[in-house]
Amino acid sequence: MRHLRPAALPPLAAALLLAACTTATPDAPVAAPQPPAMHAQLLEDVRILAADDMQGRDTGAPGGAMARAYIVGRLESLGVAPPPMGREQPWEMQGRTREGPRTFNGVNVIGVIPGTRVTDKYIVVTAHYDHVGTNDGQVFNGADDNASGVATMLALAADLKRQAPDHSVLIVALDGEERGLLGAKHFVEAPPVPLESIAMNLNFDMTARAETDGRLWVTGTYQHPNFRPILESVPANGAVSLAFGKDTPQDTGEDNWVQASDHAAFHRAQVPFLYLGVNYHADYHRPSDDFDRITPSVFISVTELSIASFRALDRALDR
Ligand SMILES: [Zn+2]
Repeated sequence: MRHLRPAALPPLAAALLLAACTTATPDAPVAAPQPPAMHAQLLEDVRILAADDMQGRDTGAPGGAMARAYIVGRLESLGVAPPPMGREQPWEMQGRTREGPRTFNGVNVIGVIPGTRVTDKYIVVTAHYDHVGTNDGQVFNGADDNASGVATMLALAADLKRQAPDHSVLIVALDGEERGLLGAKHFVEAPPVPLESIAMNLNFDMTARAETDGRLWVTGTYQHPNFRPILESVPANGAVSLAFGKDTPQDTGEDNWVQASDHAAFHRAQVPFLYLGVNYHADYHRPSDDFDRITPSVFISVTELSIASFRALDRALDR
């Protein structure tokens, strides 16, 4: 089929015609658009993980176990295999609470996607699925923090099942982040593959709410400058673009994110890391961090940017 000139058509008809041409033209290699099903699933994952019945997904609590069961089910349905050590990595550690330290029993969830080019090295993609539970009868649903990052990671996993990555990939939903990066600390102490075989950690924490500054922040290129030119080629998506920072000695206090989430445990274990996350917003660590505060188009853009960032790193590393 020849491409029709869409200029004389109303935009929607033109878009439909273009879509039809794309699918009907085998000799024109066009970047396949993300199927709309990805968008629906992305939003559905956050809606379910941030619902009241998950009770804020506290580590060791029934709501945390519900969230974990949901993530295990999603990985199974995507065909993401467990590692030889098993799908679930339980641990017991001392963690922080408002009342002081106590023992937490958490469980990390792990999947493996084999690579095609660098099969013996792993990119470890992480997102924590726990949040802070309930307080004074209020549920802290943690839609952005971090149901969103888990959903983005699952969207990446689905994409990698459609088109295999260069590196082997571990998809890791971590527990106990809010209690002191507990799951990540355990993971690097007892990794399912040798630590030396981990090429890098790519951590997603808060990927839904970029409307404050239109940026998906990339933290860690100060520590690992070789990653920066790779990601500088990733174009903006919709209203969101990558920004680099929150990682220099001049970034202080809450503007320095090097220790802010699970990637810090990898950094301390001398595993190269990058952290992708959006800026603070008014609902951060409040009971109002709810699903209905998420703007779908922004969340979709951040997720597509996250997937594009993974692909750029995966293609460029170990050349
Ligand atoms: Zn978080």
